[in-house]
Amino acid sequence: MSKPIVAIVGRPNVGKSTLFNKLAGERISIVDDKPGVTRDRIYAQSEWLNNKFTIIDTGGIEPERDDIIVKQMRRQAQIAIETCDVIMFVVDGKEGLTAADYEVAQMLRKSKKPVVLVVNKIDKVMDEDNKYEFYNLGLGEPNAISASQALGLGDMLDQVIAHFPKLEDEEEEDEFIRIAFVGRPNVGKSSLINRILGEDRNIVSDIPGTTRDSVDSYIETEEGKFILVDTAGIRRKSKVKEEIERYSVIRSLTAVEKADICVLMIDAEEGVSDQDEKIIGYAHEMNKAIMVVVNKWDLIEKDDKTLNKFKLDFQTNLSFMPYAPYLFISAKTGQRSHKVLSMCKECYNNYCKRISTGVLNEVVNRAVLMQEPPVVGSKRLKIYYATQVGIKPPTFVFFVNDVSTLHFSYQRYLENQLRESFEFKGTGIKLIFRERK
Ligand code: GDP
Ligand code: GDP
Repeated sequence: MSKPIVAIVGRPNVGKSTLFNKLAGERISIVDDKPGVTRDRIYAQSEWLNNKFTIIDTGGIEPERDDIIVKQMRRQAQIAIETCDVIMFVVDGKEGLTAADYEVAQMLRKSKKPVVLVVNKIDKVMDEDNKYEFYNLGLGEPNAISASQALGLGDMLDQVIAHFPKLEDEEEEDEFIRIAFVGRPNVGKSSLINRILGEDRNIVSDIPGTTRDSVDSYIETEEGKFILVDTAGIRRKSKVKEEIERYSVIRSLTAVEKADICVLMIDAEEGVSDQDEKIIGYAHEMNKAIMVVVNKWDLIEKDDKTLNKFKLDFQTNLSFMPYAPYLFISAKTGQRSHKVLSMCKECYNNYCKRISTGVLNEVVNRAVLMQEPPVVGSKRLKIYYATQVGIKPPTFVFFVNDVSTLHFSYQRYLENQLRESFEFKGTGIKLIFRERK
């Protein structure tokens, strides 16, 4: 099951980044000690009362002119409406209501998406009355907070999680395997999806960005039931490059978060782009099943070494996910296109795989016999037993004498041993070490 996605929307300078950083907690300060990085940070994982969710900061660059601010806010809001489960609409309690706030509020009201109205910069109790004028936005009760001082966040988050989709709502779709096709414009996402569907449901064209924003297609085959999600770029025009990029990242990101498996599509002629790396990096971090499809294979002149050479090149760029299988296809001629779904299914099965405790411990014991853990300090790691505690991805807990004696190279060794003994192609696996005296 995917985590709900919460978007933070609001004018520049109302405190979106400050709030985002507070909600993202410590993980961010570790990553972002470089100046300027925080501003670019688009998403983070957060948790409130055992409800895990992903927060997205839709704000990016800061236009100077008022008319541009309004335009940008409209795009921000639109993207949040299209991709997120709950929207936190942040306004400035010091500055008061502005025309741009009204406009966005109107869009949000029309969309019927759950909105939590957040009045920031209420640093003192006596300022709380400032929040009342925001009732005029027609978005319900304003939540007074101070992001910088972390005041009022609890009540606000109670409201946010109250809007999360209920489990029953998701059940119906749960029997479907959700596949997100990601990759830059023109790589052939729509063409491949059309191939698979066997009909021209999406519009394919040579002009980048002319496909529909994000189209879900349902398909049932011998392999199972699938939802194919196209993550085409944005149609709405923006002149600002950073803005286009941010929004297309948000789109792909939210599609990835909702997916079970991500298919990264690479153009055989163009190779892996930074954006590709970023998006598939999210998928990896979010523990999704992953496969790589290299498209436009028809355009490459080949001999018997070409495929391996290409594969090596791509794997070097995407070295953080060595487990992902590669498929070389042509959506245009149909070469190997029919294998995409079955390979997705295979990855998905591995992603959901369960290993019995007995078999698992046989493998672990054999691994330890073959290669003893190294001595760290004056001690040696001892593994009592291991057990699988979860799927999506397969997660294993190892009970050991002393966690401090675990060397990362030994952890990698164990992971490789599990991968060699069981088929985990297309999925990450997680190893957790716990002490047991
Ligand atoms: P963004 O452009 O919406 O992301 O806004 P920022 O998070 O960058 O904040 C803009 C300014 O408002 C910064 O100078 C923050 O320090 C300040 N700010 C943010 N939250 C608060 C708050 O709760 N109280 C006060 N007084 N200032 C705040
Ligand atoms: P999207 O933006 O990723 O959805 O890409 P499209 O599916 O719209 O394809 C962009 C262009 O690439 C179109 O002109 C397609 O006809 C072309 N194209 C897609 N797949 C292939 C392929 O396998 N080989 C070749 N030669 N062209 C392709």
